Amino acid sequence: MKSHVFVVDVDSYPVHRDRLFCSVKNPNRINARGNPNSSFFGLYADIKALRKGDLVFFYQMRKGEEKHLRGFRGVFKVVSDPFFSDEIIDGVSNSFSNLGSLNKKVLGRCPKCGSSVSDKQKDVKKTINGRERKVTIKYCQKCGEELDFHILPNRVLIEPLVYYDDPIDDNTAYIDRNFIKKKGMLWTMLFRKTFGAGRERSITHILPEETEKLLFMFKTLFREKKIDTSNHYNPEVMKPLIVPLDTKENGELVIEAYLEAWMMENIDKNIPVLKEIIGPVNQIEYVGNNVLYGIGGEKVDVLVLHKKNEERFKATVIELKKGKLKKQDILQIGNYTKWMAQLVFGDNTKESKNKIQPVLIGFQTPQDIISFARNFITDTQSPIILNYKVGNNTIKFERIL
Ligand SMILES: [Zn+2]
Repeated sequence: MKSHVFVVDVDSYPVHRDRLFCSVKNPNRINARGNPNSSFFGLYADIKALRKGDLVFFYQMRKGEEKHLRGFRGVFKVVSDPFFSDEIIDGVSNSFSNLGSLNKKVLGRCPKCGSSVSDKQKDVKKTINGRERKVTIKYCQKCGEELDFHILPNRVLIEPLVYYDDPIDDNTAYIDRNFIKKKGMLWTMLFRKTFGAGRERSITHILPEETEKLLFMFKTLFREKKIDTSNHYNPEVMKPLIVPLDTKENGELVIEAYLEAWMMENIDKNIPVLKEIIGPVNQIEYVGNNVLYGIGGEKVDVLVLHKKNEERFKATVIELKKGKLKKQDILQIGNYTKWMAQLVFGDNTKESKNKIQPVLIGFQTPQDIISFARNFITDTQSPIILNYKVGNNTIKFERIL
């Protein structure tokens, strides 16, 4: 079961729940040096990993003193393709519990200047009840005006699957021995959390066993509640999120994030050459990009898990390089093998390591690197190398090892 965790806060969660959509930030498309912004297209990759029918959980971050509201919330399912809309989405007038959406909004643009670039936050000193206090405010990156709500125009529509009013708090999710004993740890979420403030992504694609654990905890701890779906958001326009495949003169993509975003959109769409590596779509158990496998923030670009007859029989680990592959990229296989086996097969035995299929995708890979990879001894399956080529607004692959 594929599922994704969206990070929200006390302002955005109630609007998402009542109007039934998820959204992520919209950083500047171009960075300060005038180049395409990798974070922007990284977010495209994250949201393009979603498919209709996938499950969605929210993770509500703490804001101020509202500690008891923090935790995992759910459960919803994806019902649209991702899209862009700058509409301002209001909360619902009869939603006024302590986590109601009344008077709350999710913005698609700045109400003052119309910019759809997401807000930033900063600490300022404000006088509240006659006392000067430090508070965190949101502001528009374009006009600088203070904003009451987040600008989140990259969206996907959802429906409730089984809805629970209460969140699973962090203690229960991560520390409760009973749940760990029965259902293991939420490793990828934990790695994400310990990765460090500001570096977290707004969507985490969690493993099927993590999904199962969250569903089990909800069912064990809380009673299902009915949710009013009559106020669901009906977008006026749904602009598709388009990945530009701009290249340098030699044909190399300008940034790697183009390749990542394109892969997440197309990985299960029967792309020649790639489809032989990915295998039949009905055997895909999980696809995630930017998957953390270590407490130090170690990650792989793309992870695909394959399942047949109820058994996970293979894990394909794909590393993406926009330029020429280097020796170091091949050596990296040795770094993740043990941890990846542990993460997805539960141990690091020879048998588990042997179920890992390393794949490297690069551009005009030199002959000496191909030879190096051919002779490189690993505990995994022999590495596969593909070269990519951009043309006619698509990417083609050639298998060279
Ligand atoms: Zn503005």
